[in-house]
Amino acid sequence: MKNVVLLGPPGAGKGTVAARLVQEFKFLHVSTGDMLREEVAQNTPLGQLAKGYMARGELVPDEVILSMVRQRVDAKKGVLFDGFPRTIAQAEGLERFTTVDLVIFLEVEQEEVVRRLSSRVVCSACGAVYNLITQPPRVQGKCDQCGGTLVQREDDKPEVVARRFAVYMRDSAPLVAYYEGRGMLRRVRADRSPDEVFQAIAEVLRS
Ligand SMILES: [Zn+2]
Repeated sequence: MKNVVLLGPPGAGKGTVAARLVQEFKFLHVSTGDMLREEVAQNTPLGQLAKGYMARGELVPDEVILSMVRQRVDAKKGVLFDGFPRTIAQAEGLERFTTVDLVIFLEVEQEEVVRRLSSRVVCSACGAVYNLITQPPRVQGKCDQCGGTLVQREDDKPEVVARRFAVYMRDSAPLVAYYEGRGMLRRVRADRSPDEVFQAIAEVLRS
């Protein structure tokens, strides 16, 4: 079984494709974002430590992330690393306790990401999520479930989406170059349907 790293900017559809890959290929899913949220929610020592950094607006240090990942990795199962590694130090640290066989980079243009994310609205009353392009409400501006008012999250505003995208591309560029230089990176176009993206990755994994 292979260990795979999934990289991609916000809005590339990483969450959707990761869920499908885990289901079809029986990967152990290692999402550092989810793991950190769990540790914080359960108020573990690691969670308390991580919370302090996050509250100060700082990144959780590489060695904290690495020890969390190390606890989770199981040598008998292929692992899908999602949202990790973020830095070259994390990538090097990961290789000290496991191997990485393949890195998939989901490629998508900034324009497409802005179009996708800025079309998302949520119900201010019940939290239901809609997409004005792919899944619009029956009545404009109103929730199908409860009639609440639909609003755009601050994070989904076009200028915020564009900034998050630019920051991701800038910060991940060294990591992409690192894996590319070692012949481990495969680029997969993500400007198409979730099913097409999944099939393209599945083909790479089976080859
Ligand atoms: Zn609602």
